[in-house]
Amino acid sequence: MTADAQSSIIFGGQFARELPELAVHWQAEEAPDPRLLVLNEPLAEILGFNSESLQSPEGLQLLLGTVLPSGTTPVAQGYAGHQFGSYSPRLGDGRALLLGELMDSAGNLRDIHLKGSGRTPFARGGDGLAAIGPMLREYVVSEAMHAMGIPSTRSLAVVATGRPVRREALLPGAVLTRVSSSHLRVGSFQYVRAMNNEDLLRRLADHAIERHYPQVMEAENPYLALFEAVLTAQATLTAHWMLVGFIHGVMNTDNMTISGETIDYGPCAFIEVFDPATVYSSIDESGRYAYGNQPIVAQWNLARLAEALLPLFHENQEHSVALAQESLGAFHTQYSATWLAGMKTKLGLDERFEDEIATSLTDELFALLQADRIDYTSFFRNLGTAARGDTEPAHSMFSDPAAFDTWVERWRALEPDANRMDRTNPVYIPRNHLVEEALAAAVDGDLEPFSQLLAAVTAPFEQRPGFERYAAAAPESFGPYRTFCGT
Ligand code: AMP
Ligand code: MG
Repeated sequence: MTADAQSSIIFGGQFARELPELAVHWQAEEAPDPRLLVLNEPLAEILGFNSESLQSPEGLQLLLGTVLPSGTTPVAQGYAGHQFGSYSPRLGDGRALLLGELMDSAGNLRDIHLKGSGRTPFARGGDGLAAIGPMLREYVVSEAMHAMGIPSTRSLAVVATGRPVRREALLPGAVLTRVSSSHLRVGSFQYVRAMNNEDLLRRLADHAIERHYPQVMEAENPYLALFEAVLTAQATLTAHWMLVGFIHGVMNTDNMTISGETIDYGPCAFIEVFDPATVYSSIDESGRYAYGNQPIVAQWNLARLAEALLPLFHENQEHSVALAQESLGAFHTQYSATWLAGMKTKLGLDERFEDEIATSLTDELFALLQADRIDYTSFFRNLGTAARGDTEPAHSMFSDPAAFDTWVERWRALEPDANRMDRTNPVYIPRNHLVEEALAAAVDGDLEPFSQLLAAVTAPFEQRPGFERYAAAAPESFGPYRTFCGT
């Protein structure tokens, strides 16, 4: 590589070295005409890149994976997964590559990973490519999630390749360079379990422990403790999704990480009017991954992880199953506790506030929101204004406000803290109509709407003049909204 300013970058190959059975050495495809669409400069600096030289032709080659520091061993990772409930024994990175790991400025190991970098041996029928729209979509939504404090993979850059991609139409192609604390998935364990190789399963579990949960090494049963740590991370993550109204859209076991970071932003979307049955994804015909089903699905996916880990829990299979079931039983309690604590904060109440009253308050409120089809995000922000004494913005959202007025008086008597509410209730989320508008403009060569949207959602709690339309609900003319995997 000739980009001098990146000469200090050395991608580690820990995953490829420790788990060669899951790593197929592979190269990214050349891009005919690379053009940088977006670069995450703060993230680049955290990772030790020089932002300026990343924008040079050599820098773009690095972001595309086509010219890499010597010694780099890019790999496609193997994994399996339950997709919409049916098991696929061999999925893997069909159009993605792990370049390797970097140590960030905080001393944490980060995967640098490409999406849309060409066909790999896992590509099956796919073309290995990605279009600009879905890659920018992952960029903006993942960065919004991170800014809201929700664990997520992050986005370093999107580079247009100059290669057209055939979908419903011919679309301009792109590569997303993404960053995460690892790309280990529930499906990684399922893949290994199916090989019937206990040594490999143990190596994979040890690798996961070292990378994510080193504290469990001290436990009496470290592999069971690993499972419990993943369960806690996933229960917490799902609770946070629910609190901000995030619908992942395709919670297959290959799209659930061991780290507890949100991954693989496909047909995801934020809820508009509050309704647990909301499904935006066009491929989710049965509503399996509807907003309100997400906690149940997370637990179902964890049961699949437990099955994969069974041989490590105990040598006696029956005893292993009993241990797994007992651990899995904690999901509901942990999820509910995190959700209720988060809901108290959204309502401006102290986390120690009495659970029973908080539960009845939220149950009543959600019934009102659902009955009157209230925009979830702007409602909570308006409620912050109500906590400051002006109930009008929230009141005027209801067509039949009498029941809300009663509720709000009861709630205000509890002296909610408006500042606490504003720190947890986002003003700006990647609203569906704004995302669509920004992506359509970007595909036509105008990146300004995308930059504005990104500016809004990466400082989500800070209300700013000039960003009013980013805080407003979709116009009536928009919808019913449908998202497409659009891969
Ligand atoms: P997803 O549910 O989008 O995360 O992807 C499911 C599986 O399909 C993964 O194994 C992907 O690598 C693979 N895949 C998705 N799109 C493509 C594509 N265009 N070419 C090759 N493989 C793909
Ligand atoms: Mg995936």
